[in-house]
Amino acid sequence: MPIEMPKGLPMSVDTWGSSSNRKRHHFLTHAHKDHTFGISSPHLSSPIYCTKITQNLLLHQFPRIDRSLFVGIEVGESLAVDDPDGGFAVTAFDANHCPGAVMFLFEGTFGSILHTGDCRLSPECLQNLPEKYLGKKGREPKCSLDFVFLDCTFGKSSVKLPSKYSATRQVISCIWKHPNASKVYLACDLLGQEDILVEVSKTFGSKIYIDKNIECYNNLKLLAPDILSEDPSSRFHLFDGFPRLYERASEKLAEAKANLQPQPLFVRPSAQWYACEETSDDDLQLRKRLNEAVQDSFGVWHVCYSTHSSREELEWALQLLQPKRVVSTTPTCRAMELSYVKNHCLKSQIASDDRLWKLLQIDVELESSSEAASTNSSEKVATDETAASPRMENLQLLSSLNQCSQRIYLQIIWSHS
Ligand SMILES: [Zn+2]
Repeated sequence: MPIEMPKGLPMSVDTWGSSSNRKRHHFLTHAHKDHTFGISSPHLSSPIYCTKITQNLLLHQFPRIDRSLFVGIEVGESLAVDDPDGGFAVTAFDANHCPGAVMFLFEGTFGSILHTGDCRLSPECLQNLPEKYLGKKGREPKCSLDFVFLDCTFGKSSVKLPSKYSATRQVISCIWKHPNASKVYLACDLLGQEDILVEVSKTFGSKIYIDKNIECYNNLKLLAPDILSEDPSSRFHLFDGFPRLYERASEKLAEAKANLQPQPLFVRPSAQWYACEETSDDDLQLRKRLNEAVQDSFGVWHVCYSTHSSREELEWALQLLQPKRVVSTTPTCRAMELSYVKNHCLKSQIASDDRLWKLLQIDVELESSSEAASTNSSEKVATDETAASPRMENLQLLSSLNQCSQRIYLQIIWSHS
């Protein structure tokens, strides 16, 4: 689930709970369900900024949402947003994640903030960011982003994810190698996997059958209507990838056997099996092969197709951008686990005029009295009952912690803001 933006910012990104609804401006990076959770609430307030594709996908799913709540913003477009605390600019950039997905760059009195939403940070999509934020040939960028809210989904994984293009070619090649498979079941039911289906359809000159009951049917009808077939005798079928993939594959195998047909082919293009899932030791060896499809012990062929950045890509992006602070938008993965963050963001103490205080709505005027407290032990400060204001308490505690604990503490108060 995406995290709430700090209290001191006037906007929410991808969150739709009661505290987000109190924000004055709402931004939606893309239409995946975990980013739209709660958006159908009757208390939804406007405006909601997103791309036209995201809006259409969302309205397909929630037809009752009022169209007039949306403000369109497309890749490369900048908008000026009025706000009583000071206007700001927002620019959308391709996130290389799924159709309609964008990253938002916010620039205002709060500083410069890049919110990546979910993203696959390829060199191409980073090069589209304003030049002043990009370092060149090992040099620092002209301007440092104050904050990057970063999709760290695979921040802990060492898997070197192949590019989306390479993974798509692996799917095609796997199908070529099985000319006798009477049916090809493609577990590509996620928004963001349409390119694979389009390529398969184009390469083999065949449309793809999709059961209307499969949830992604409406999305595909909107995004790639030309490749859809209503004829179940088609060789290519879209297969629900989750849950019960193996159970349903067993049923199809039994069906083919009963009809004396050759064994069908199952292809699952997903990074989950490579990065997260527990499998047998045999499969563990197979998962190290990333340049071609590999067959697991059940018989399903896997291709490492990812719409999220690898750890290597995240490190590379941060080296290029050199932001002052990084916040993971995926709560199970902490940005502080990334080498860039360890080496660059954890080393300095937080100055009293740092923008961070404003974002967290901690009153910096109380800083002078907290400085005296900073010489006390953290235990004493943390239990100091004379600290009347919660803000004061936060600042005192923060001043007394060492740098690493400071970062962890910030993460905690941030996520609860
Ligand atoms: Zn997503």
